Amino acid sequence: MNRFHILTLFTQQVEYYFKHSILKRAIENKIISVDAIDMRDYAVNEYGKVDDTLYGGGTGMLIQCQPVFDAYNSIALNSSTGEKPYVVYMSPKGSLFDQKKAKELSKRKDLVIICGHYEGIDDRVISTIVDEQISIGDYVLTGGEVAACVIVDSISRMIPNVLPNEEAYMNESHMNDTLEHLQYTKPEVWKGKRVPQVLLSGDFAKIDEFNKTVALCETWSKRPDMLEKKALSTEEWQKMLEYKKSI
Ligand code: SAM
Repeated sequence: MNRFHILTLFTQQVEYYFKHSILKRAIENKIISVDAIDMRDYAVNEYGKVDDTLYGGGTGMLIQCQPVFDAYNSIALNSSTGEKPYVVYMSPKGSLFDQKKAKELSKRKDLVIICGHYEGIDDRVISTIVDEQISIGDYVLTGGEVAACVIVDSISRMIPNVLPNEEAYMNESHMNDTLEHLQYTKPEVWKGKRVPQVLLSGDFAKIDEFNKTVALCETWSKRPDMLEKKALSTEEWQKMLEYKKSI
């Protein structure tokens, strides 16, 4: 089982996200577990206050070291493996999260994810317990909760048995440095737009080849930067040009 431990001041925000669909089933089937740990339970005063003003001035409040450290220790000391769990801090300063990072983190059995709020967290506890800082994009959110849900969702899809089979994610966008091919379902014709004939042919080799070409064209038109990493053959370029002409 892969265990996600999310340190937050807003447990309900996190818990709600995992009460639906595929991830809810993965939790019920004990493939993953997601625990939202309230850092307020580790406040060093009786009011549950975990933040304070900034040294040196400045607006806003900062989460203090001790509640974060004690909440982290509640997991680290209970770890079934006896190893230090891997600790990620959600932060706009972190390295940008992507599919490769999701795959890498899916190998971690215990992953602690710390969500900041307000101005963030005192740097001294970050430098003491955090292994890696991760950002979900170059913008600033009010808190790390949504970001934590984003990464747990994406990581979970890579864990065996969360999705029906590996194929379900192996051909998806960003898995092979391309975007996914276009997809269609019934009816065959909608508002005069017809599903490509080859997809109805039952010839799976041809369908596979067609989808690969469409995936490359999708990447070329929507994310040309991704194709720079790939050395496409003359044949692949020819097929892409033929497809472009046909649409
Ligand atoms: N003062 C911080 C700065 O300028 O770098 C921003 C703090 S932000 C308002 C509050 C919390 O939201 C952060 O501690 C972090 O946990 C989370 N957060 C904000 N933007 C994020 C992003 N792009 N990716 C991941 N977490 C983010």
